Amino acid sequence: MKNKMQFHTRSAFYHLPICCGFCGQLVIPSEEALEESTINPCQHTLFIAHSEGYEFLSDRVQEQLKQKGYGIEIDGSLVMICYYKPREEESLDIDDMITELDFPDSLVVESVVGAPSGMSLLVGFAPLSGE
Ligand SMILES: [Zn+2]
Repeated sequence: MKNKMQFHTRSAFYHLPICCGFCGQLVIPSEEALEESTINPCQHTLFIAHSEGYEFLSDRVQEQLKQKGYGIEIDGSLVMICYYKPREEESLDIDDMITELDFPDSLVVESVVGAPSGMSLLVGFAPLSGE
């Protein structure tokens, strides 16, 4: 059985800081943090991604994607994910990646900025094994 991720979608207070529910660490201090690259993932953070790409992928996520046959290339601060199959060199979008991942009791905090930027930010969290 695949563990589907739970979603917490914020469209009204999308700009509020994002803390980890497991340890309380402030992961995204402000909206500007993404531009300034002052994001601060904790050990429970699975990924930080937005409409333009991936900012952070934890080792746990990278391992799981590799096991599923995806290749991961890290290009500067932006993480690119490429299919090994069925087609090469096509990047895996965030929604598809979330569908692929299998972490029990995980939570995705989604911040939907909406018009005019149309940007969304997704931060995934999961407990460590044994917690
Ligand atoms: Zn944490």
